[in-house]
Amino acid sequence: MVYVTSYRCFRCGRKHKPNEIERLPIPRCECGSALDAEYDYKSIQRVILRDDFMRAKPAHWKYWAFMPVKDLSRIITMGEGNTPLLENKRLGKGERLLIKYEAANPTGSFKDRGSSLEITKALESGKCKVALASTGNMGASVAAYAAYAGLECRVYIPDIVGKEKITQIKAYGAGIIDVEGDYSAAIKQAEEYVASHTESFLTGDYTWRSEGTKTVGFEIADQLYWRVPDHIVVPVGNGTLIWSISEAFRELVLVGITDKIPGITGVQVENCAPVVHAWENDLNEIIPVRNPDTVATAIACGDPTYGLAALKAIRDSGGEALRVSDKEALDARDKLARNGIFVEPSGAVAYAGIMKKELSGTVVCLATGHGLKDMYGLM
Ligand SMILES: *Cc1c(COP(=O)(O)O)cnc(C)c1O
Repeated sequence: MVYVTSYRCFRCGRKHKPNEIERLPIPRCECGSALDAEYDYKSIQRVILRDDFMRAKPAHWKYWAFMPVKDLSRIITMGEGNTPLLENKRLGKGERLLIKYEAANPTGSFKDRGSSLEITKALESGKCKVALASTGNMGASVAAYAAYAGLECRVYIPDIVGKEKITQIKAYGAGIIDVEGDYSAAIKQAEEYVASHTESFLTGDYTWRSEGTKTVGFEIADQLYWRVPDHIVVPVGNGTLIWSISEAFRELVLVGITDKIPGITGVQVENCAPVVHAWENDLNEIIPVRNPDTVATAIACGDPTYGLAALKAIRDSGGEALRVSDKEALDARDKLARNGIFVEPSGAVAYAGIMKKELSGTVVCLATGHGLKDMYGLM
């Protein structure tokens, strides 16, 4: 029951067979770019009993057919997904604003969706250890899922990560390696480690994570009774989240469940806005930002792995790219909290974008990480 047919490179377009990619220590194209999984959508369409599927309660693994998993009886799940879509009229300006509260996942961020699939893949490939680079939330998430599955975990942490997140990672028993330098430097070290330690499985912003993260998009459509919102507004760090959401909507069209793609707007902070810069200047490359300095540490990715994919998601959907200041992100965080919705600064960046912009119709705002994870300026 695996419907994945190939992995296509974002940059050079080369198609790879699934078994070629599954046995690579670092799952990406020879040209260095990230890969996008393609599926046999006709078969998925036949297999998903349309009525049952449409009516079943939203949940991460409800959408299993859109994930490259070999044996459904061996998935690692901790109840990720099925997060609320909150409507609080005081937060909007006339549009219908819905907040997708991803803080409600087991470790407090949407990263759990990707981790659930990654750790399932790590076990599938017979590995007993995992390693990754993280700005905090992914580290906590992978550490939790690895611990749950009985795997060892090593997390490479750049110098920008806050104390609370490091504490959470340690609580799950993962090993922490402090990296001198930024997130890109941490990624390089994690990849080098896995390349020379074959018992380890590399997790992070690669194919498995982006495929698992698509369920945010499936759920949004599902929670709207399979109607597509007009806009979805997403914070952009490494770009996986925004790319995965756009893929989810593209795939729903391919299997005939929906008939359009929402406008997808990406929001970054001023001090780390390489995707916004490329969008504003109509570039087809991402110019890296070195050592980004921002309160939105979870999106301080100066050289985003899925940067080109994020750009494509925005362009193909007719969306836009916006930048907000650190202060606007913190003001947005405070406003959400005073209306009962507590997120960390990065989790408020999409809402900060919405406060600056006029969007009409049904607008879904991604609130990505729990407020308790980073209480910058509140204590
Ligand atoms: C990871 C993360 C993001 C950004 O997601 P990307 O997939 O890296 O673009 C945004 N907010 C929070 C809280 C995160 O943990």
